[in-house]
Amino acid sequence: MINYNKQHISNSDIINVIKALKSSNLTQGKYTEDFELKLQSYFRSKYAVSVSSGTSALILALRAIGLKKNEKVIVPSISFLATANAVEICGGHTLFADINEEDNTLDINYVESLIKKNHNKIKAIIGVDYAGHPCNWIELKKISNKYGIKLINDNCHAMGSKLNGNQGYACKYADLVCQSYHAIKNFTTGEGGSVLTNNYKYFTKIKTLRSHGITKREEFSKSMNKEFWKYSMTSLGYNFRLTDIQSALGISQLRSLNKFVKKRRIIADFYNKSLKSISCFRIPFSNPNIFHSYHLYPLKIYFNKCEVSKTKFMNKLYNEGIKLQVNYIPIHTQKYYKKKYGENRTLKVSENFYKSEVSLPIYYDLSINDCKKIVFKLLQITNDR
Ligand SMILES: *Cc1c(COP(=O)(O)O)cnc(C)c1O
Repeated sequence: MINYNKQHISNSDIINVIKALKSSNLTQGKYTEDFELKLQSYFRSKYAVSVSSGTSALILALRAIGLKKNEKVIVPSISFLATANAVEICGGHTLFADINEEDNTLDINYVESLIKKNHNKIKAIIGVDYAGHPCNWIELKKISNKYGIKLINDNCHAMGSKLNGNQGYACKYADLVCQSYHAIKNFTTGEGGSVLTNNYKYFTKIKTLRSHGITKREEFSKSMNKEFWKYSMTSLGYNFRLTDIQSALGISQLRSLNKFVKKRRIIADFYNKSLKSISCFRIPFSNPNIFHSYHLYPLKIYFNKCEVSKTKFMNKLYNEGIKLQVNYIPIHTQKYYKKKYGENRTLKVSENFYKSEVSLPIYYDLSINDCKKIVFKLLQITNDR
């Protein structure tokens, strides 16, 4: 079965993990410290805090800005559930924004209209660099400055992307950047994630909250009057730590990120060339000022033009051994959100996007021969009347 995404584990990944297993600390030891330094250096942030998942990264980012009960956070409806769920878990009020039809990230005009409708009372905007295509961060930054709104980048799809040639763009524009290293992401630690920031205050807060809100531990010392068993807790935190086993994998995987992205781009290029002239398909748009890392290859198919339903299309491919995905079901249409915020909200672009989007397989070990087979089957099934 060809899946839409898949990890690549090399021998050096395995060797590094074994080293970590044989080291003295299985968690919060030198591998975690080193992984954080490597993240800082690759993504050009002043600080990096590794955490247990992308979801915990989002929760910590919202805690860092001090999100209070019922404070409003703008989130795109086309994202993984976690982007909005983090807001809800922190007690916030989720305001869903529509996406734009071109690059499928936040619609800037929609965001501004939401801000006006809510009398400028917005605490934060979470932008999702969907599929690996950065949002319009330049405009979002202007909005953030104009209205005093905090910016969080849900960067879970976009490790290895660039904006104006800068691989550290995420921290340049957003106050906080959240990444996920889940198995299907651009590089992996199995489960895992991080928060990146240039802000020292956010950094210390997140580091404290990652581990139960503990701010002080007495160091062991030979002195007889040290109370080395003591710790003090100043805020209510979590256990969101990443293990050294995972960090060891992360260090080794991060070394391959550029290689992984390069292959993803070759595959995307192949799909683009093969599908661009087919009238019922629309290949993903890529702004000339960005470097796309293609975590996803979101193809739009106008099913009303090709006379096969989406369900039938997906199942026919599945039966041929090709398991596509749909990224995503608009979050505002989920039961929990409908119940909380009302049944009747519509986001036209997001809902139409859901009708047409399919994610084609794209990952390091996928061969061009496999891609040829996928394209052949795609064309065969969509022409099948
Ligand atoms: C994967 C993902 C998350 C959540 O990350 P986990 O590590 O699975 O918790 C959040 N947002 C987006 C856009 C994602 O793709």
